[in-house]
Amino acid sequence: MMSDKYCGVHKLGWVLVIIGAVNWGLVGLLNWNLVEAIFGGVPVLVRIIYILVGISGIAMLGCAKCKMCKK
Ligand SMILES: [Zn+2]
Repeated sequence: MMSDKYCGVHKLGWVLVIIGAVNWGLVGLLNWNLVEAIFGGVPVLVRIIYILVGISGIAMLGCAKCKMCKK
C-alpha cells in the first residue's frame, strides 16, 4: 500500500485530500457537491470539512520534511 509510508497525521491528511479532490471533480463533472449532499443540513460542518481539506493539502506538502513518514 502506498499510504503505508505515511505517518498517522499524513494518512488522515491524505484521506481528506482525496475526499476534497473527488468532491471537486464531481462538482466539475456533474455539478453535484457530495459534501453538501451529505452534510448540507449542517452548514458549519460543511465549512469545517472544507477547512480540514485545505489544511490537509498544505500538510501533505510538509510530508517531505516529516520525520515520522517513511521515505
Ligand atoms: Zn508525516
